[in-house]
Amino acid sequence: MKNVIKIIPKSMIGATLPGNSTVEMKEFEVPTPGFGQVLVQTKASTICGSDIRAIYREHTGKGAEGYIPGMIAGHEPCGVIVKEGPGLKEFKTGDRVIVYHISGCGVCYNCRMGYMIACSNPTFRQAYGWQRNGGMAPYILCDEKDLIHLPDELTYKDGAQVACGFGTVYEALEKIGICGNDAVLVTGLGPVGLATLMLAKAMGADKLIGVEMNDYRIDLAKKLGLVDYVFKPSDHTVQDILDVTGGKGVERAIDCSASDAGRQTCVRASKEWAKIALVGEGNTMTLNPSPDMMHSQKTIYGSWVTSTWKMMDLVDRLVRWNIHPGDLITDEFPIEKADEAYALMASGKCGKVAVVYPD
Ligand SMILES: [Zn+2]
Ligand SMILES: [Zn+2]
Repeated sequence: MKNVIKIIPKSMIGATLPGNSTVEMKEFEVPTPGFGQVLVQTKASTICGSDIRAIYREHTGKGAEGYIPGMIAGHEPCGVIVKEGPGLKEFKTGDRVIVYHISGCGVCYNCRMGYMIACSNPTFRQAYGWQRNGGMAPYILCDEKDLIHLPDELTYKDGAQVACGFGTVYEALEKIGICGNDAVLVTGLGPVGLATLMLAKAMGADKLIGVEMNDYRIDLAKKLGLVDYVFKPSDHTVQDILDVTGGKGVERAIDCSASDAGRQTCVRASKEWAKIALVGEGNTMTLNPSPDMMHSQKTIYGSWVTSTWKMMDLVDRLVRWNIHPGDLITDEFPIEKADEAYALMASGKCGKVAVVYPD
């Protein structure tokens, strides 16, 4: 391969989210990596539902989801290291990397478990694209400890999908365990729900069932071959699911809809002893504990993002399974058109939306 020396510019244009459903492009200095840090040239940066929910429309996020106004948005970046700071232990210039999207303190209980998402130190916990600059700019300053090697078999778009969505889904599926014994129900077929189906299929699930109201997303799930059955939410959704599972319900269910109704469907359309995972964020869940959970011996798992080590496992599995998370990206934009990218994601008439950068 030919080595091309790339000139790193002094400044760059990055996308910020003022909180009124617009994107503001601003000029930033290209940062210089300090001790234990690298400069990553961004290659792909996908937009998350949480960006729309907590930042784009309004700055509603608090704590972990609090956005510092003026920060470069984008917490799902993937790229290549172009400059090294001193003191690196593992990564070097030229390495293709996924950025785990939260930089934690490194020494609290959750950080030591690899779950920097749940870092308990509010001073040092910083999410890329929320409390420190993220991937919606040509360069991103990263801490080495937040990086995951991107295998050669995976594209930068695959890597961006792993940085948040696929990692989150893999964690939840690992918690409930998926195998060829299982019919799997996914409520809500946005990008996270589609990712859930894609991974559940790769893990051997026997029957894949989706519930979704958006026609575009129903068609997309069918086109990608990710569902055996898909139902629109109605007053007979639970019965529809029972009808295609021998009257017994699914062994595993994952809620990606974040709606009370979707969660109830997961619980009530699942079989005795079922395992259910909650992935969609926000809203409430209304249950009748005795019939819904206790007498039917069901378990509900909460799951929030993933750990760095599980993300390393996931990229290995993606190569082994020969599947590409980037296949769920339906629309791509250059950074100059970031406003169109966010507007499309907010409209819901899309699968995953990505900002991609030229080589
Ligand atoms: Zn995300
Ligand atoms: Zn921590």
